[in-house]
Amino acid sequence: MLFDPRPKEKLKDIFDRENEVELLKRSLDSPLIIISGLRRTGKTSLVKSVLNEVKAIHIFLDMRRFENREYIVYKDFLGVLEREVNSITKKWKGVLDHFKAVKGVSVAGMSLSFSWGKERTEFSDVLSSLNDWANEKGRNVTVVIDEAQELMKLKGYDVLPSIAYAFDNLRNVNFIITGSEVRVKTKFLKLEKENSPLYGRAHVEVNVNTFDKETSIKFLEKGFEEQGINFRKGEEVYEGLGGNPGWLTYYGYVYVKEGDGQAMEYTRMYARKLLSKELCDFLVEGGRLGSKERYLRVLETCKSGCSWKDIKNALEALEGREVNDGTVHTILQNLLDYSFLVLEGKGKYFLADPLMKELNDV
Ligand code: ADP
Repeated sequence: MLFDPRPKEKLKDIFDRENEVELLKRSLDSPLIIISGLRRTGKTSLVKSVLNEVKAIHIFLDMRRFENREYIVYKDFLGVLEREVNSITKKWKGVLDHFKAVKGVSVAGMSLSFSWGKERTEFSDVLSSLNDWANEKGRNVTVVIDEAQELMKLKGYDVLPSIAYAFDNLRNVNFIITGSEVRVKTKFLKLEKENSPLYGRAHVEVNVNTFDKETSIKFLEKGFEEQGINFRKGEEVYEGLGGNPGWLTYYGYVYVKEGDGQAMEYTRMYARKLLSKELCDFLVEGGRLGSKERYLRVLETCKSGCSWKDIKNALEALEGREVNDGTVHTILQNLLDYSFLVLEGKGKYFLADPLMKELNDV
């Protein structure tokens, strides 16, 4: 059902995305796949549906659960890892045997426990054990790290050396990493940073973009058709919400539950709440509260697209004095990194989500 607000788990429930699905299916034997895109564009749905369709053996490390946390520790990560590895041990005989001699792992009945004490369980050892089992079975284990940018908050442990080790040595383990393009690729995996463990590693990238106008309208019509409703207001809804599949899905969901009257307003409220929370976190977490007015002015200026020069002028008008190029650059880069702005051809900056125009109360 297209208007199910949860991430989709079956390909038959995924609208459009034929190219992305094909690319992901074709790339499943690559050691590192990055699924990037703005919030709510359908990254998780794509990964879950494809892996289920091809019956891939996988563990799904959902880092979204740490969205509201200021920082996380290795124990938090291990907890998620332990639960997911146990889902494999319950389904497949023989996995446990490969964990028996691993430092920091105890086996009780059909379950594994990972330790966070003095003898802690190392991520690389867990990956090695999964690899040994998969190798024996002639299979592959895919490790999905969903919304991986949240792992930048992990204190006192670095998962990158383990991923790099697996990339180089473990032929039967591969990774799918999802998240916002800049933060996952550049900030978390640091693929372009010379001293990073993953520097220069080859990877496949699948971009999940927002729908264009025509696709958005078709999505809505198909979703309503499934509900036995003949819907003809697709264009109006696209004008109001843009082409983010997450917002369109929510609109359809509310419309079916509450009726036409509420759907647009509720969806805008829902999206605004989510975007405004992200913007607040961005300002607080990054210690940017002192520059809040500057960031808001830049976003305001980009409402209908603007150039670098427009932004510099707007900041100078705000401060009543010259603002140096470095400051403008830093503000813009941060807003791009966190997907609040996008840079389109001809050097114009736009709001990544049109609903950000309405964030007046941050
Ligand atoms: P992301 O992981 O990018 O944040 P999700 O996979 O959680 O996005 O999707 C957000 C919402 O949009 C969910 O309700 C999901 O069901 C819906 N959705 C996203 N893409 C599609 C699609 N192509 N077809 C149907 N529903 C989709």
